[in-house]
Amino acid sequence: KQASGSVQGTTPNSNGLPPAVVNGPRMNATFVTLARNQDVWEIARSIRQVEDRFNRKFNYDWVFLNDDEFNDEFKKVTTALASGKTKYGKIPKEHWSFPDHIDQDKAAKVRDEMREKKIIYGDSVSYRHMCRFESGFFFRHPLMLDYEWYWRVEPSIELYCDIDYDPFKFMADNKKKYSFVLSLYEYVETIPTLWNTVKDFTAKFPQYVAKDNSMKFLSDNGGVDYNHCHFWSNFEIANANWLRSQAYLDYFNHLDQSGGFFYERWGDAPVHSIAAGLMLDKSEIHFFNDIAYYHVPFTHCPTGEQYRMDHKCHCKPEDNFDWKGYSCLSRFYELNDMKKPEGYEKEQN
Ligand code: GDP
Ligand code: MN
Repeated sequence: KQASGSVQGTTPNSNGLPPAVVNGPRMNATFVTLARNQDVWEIARSIRQVEDRFNRKFNYDWVFLNDDEFNDEFKKVTTALASGKTKYGKIPKEHWSFPDHIDQDKAAKVRDEMREKKIIYGDSVSYRHMCRFESGFFFRHPLMLDYEWYWRVEPSIELYCDIDYDPFKFMADNKKKYSFVLSLYEYVETIPTLWNTVKDFTAKFPQYVAKDNSMKFLSDNGGVDYNHCHFWSNFEIANANWLRSQAYLDYFNHLDQSGGFFYERWGDAPVHSIAAGLMLDKSEIHFFNDIAYYHVPFTHCPTGEQYRMDHKCHCKPEDNFDWKGYSCLSRFYELNDMKKPEGYEKEQN
């Protein structure tokens, strides 16, 4: 069968096949994955999909981070799958441990209570270190300091459509700083005092609150209460320099001081989302409708058959979470005066 169609912005080679790699400039960007050695085969699946759908044409680097030393098998398998340079880093102890001000007895008691209440990861210490690390430290790891942009990839995700352009470049060209594909409501039990802690922060640092922010995405009553909407952070394409800014670091330190990562079970998703929603201009947050994605248990499958055909998508349209009751995407569309796609009403149940 003759190869048909060439990658956008490229011309076929003399052999008639589309070039294996898209010509042109690259952004200062990397993939970043936090994983354990035992996650090797789950992350292998993710890398294979990211490479097939996008990165084999762009060859961006891939940074792997771990609180432990990566073993040879992990490095061998992931380096073989990735088309760009791979780098492996160990997380410094201070970025993966209890800060001194944490009362250990109080933290242990919370974990016992959450275990009784069967709150997901409620009894886990390592999950809390993970959430705190993803909230405040991954972008400061020495291996990450070389990069301005990152794309976070977790084990066992799927990409369902071809991505024929460079999302990093799209972000830069369109002055975006943060992006998402899925948004939903957080479990209230994991963040009971997060919003009040954020309000203390914005009262102390009003200069960090963007004038044209996304408060309407986060709150239904002008900021009095949090509606628990957040962007799901297992997928993120974002600007690491924004996270390295004094504004974000002051925000993270304020949250960290309050102890909520350990006295509750704050996730990095609501932490990033509230920061983006309040401290970025709403035009700086992008919804990647064209990146079809799965992380258990939710799917983003772009609405519109023509798009799915043109991009060789293999997701099941009925699985699309966008317009379901538990999704927050409608709020994002309404906040930004975006037109919902043809046929979205049929996907609401
Ligand atoms: P979930 O998506 O909230 O269910 O959480 P995951 O189990 O997927 O963890 C989120 C990310 O952190 C994934 O990339 C995991 O591989 C990684 N992760 C979770 N716990 C640990 C840990 O203890 N050590 C390391 N190195 N990575 C972890
Ligand atoms: Mn996950």
